[in-house]
Amino acid sequence: GAMVELRSVTKTYTNGYHALLDVSINIKKGEFLFITGPSGSGKSTFLKLLYGQELPSQGEVIVDDLNVANLRGDRLSLLRRRIGIVFQDYKLIPQRTVAENVTFVLQAQGYTRKEIQRRLEPTLKLVGLLSKADSFPDQLSGGEQQRVSIARAIIATPPLLLADEPTGNLDPDNSWQVIQILQKLNTFGATVIVTTHDEQLVRRCNHPVVQVKNGRLYRN
Ligand code: ADP
Ligand code: ADP
Repeated sequence: GAMVELRSVTKTYTNGYHALLDVSINIKKGEFLFITGPSGSGKSTFLKLLYGQELPSQGEVIVDDLNVANLRGDRLSLLRRRIGIVFQDYKLIPQRTVAENVTFVLQAQGYTRKEIQRRLEPTLKLVGLLSKADSFPDQLSGGEQQRVSIARAIIATPPLLLADEPTGNLDPDNSWQVIQILQKLNTFGATVIVTTHDEQLVRRCNHPVVQVKNGRLYRN
């Protein structure tokens, strides 16, 4: 089945700019997909439509069998709980430790302390940061900070993982580590969508690629 489906989607921003034009795409459950394209081509807009940060101006966005445009309030929150999101700039809370950054989402969602503890260790282990649980973000390298943000995105085991230029601020070694973690999550069953303009990184992997050019999508 499909995890993501866009049907003739156009996104026009309030200033009249068409960021996406008549885009249709079907992304299957369990797929690992790269979205490439130059800066300003519409990659972030594409991801924002999937988690309801932006609404389509025309067409339909279906995620996990839900029409995103119809979701408001609680039902949009429920969809977002099923989506893990990783950003280029990590978005960690500086005053909180690694463990707190990773778990505060679960606390806000009402998980028990016991369940949170049960999930924390294997999640930090997966991203190679078990020894840094009590560190603060500014005590970590960029690569480590990005791995904290991945841990935060996956601790609730969402079936869909979106990463918007996750390696944009990282050197090649750290970029490769991040991609390997995302690939591992994909083998565990998550559908993974990664935007990047790092052609080398894409070539190093054997995943399908969609190119965005002037608001249109091209599957290679
Ligand atoms: P609204 O919340 O009313 O839809 P937008 O979020 O579309 O408004 O943004 C309002 C204005 O901010 C836009 O018309 C645009 O001029 C500017 N803007 C915001 N983000 C960007 C961006 N990434 N690139 C260019 N302009 C932007
Ligand atoms: P990418 O992620 O590929 O760099 P974006 O999806 O962020 O591209 O942006 C696509 C185009 O839409 C850009 O030209 C950008 O300036 C414009 N844009 C993005 N957000 C807004 C906004 N809120 N208001 C107006 N224009 C925007």
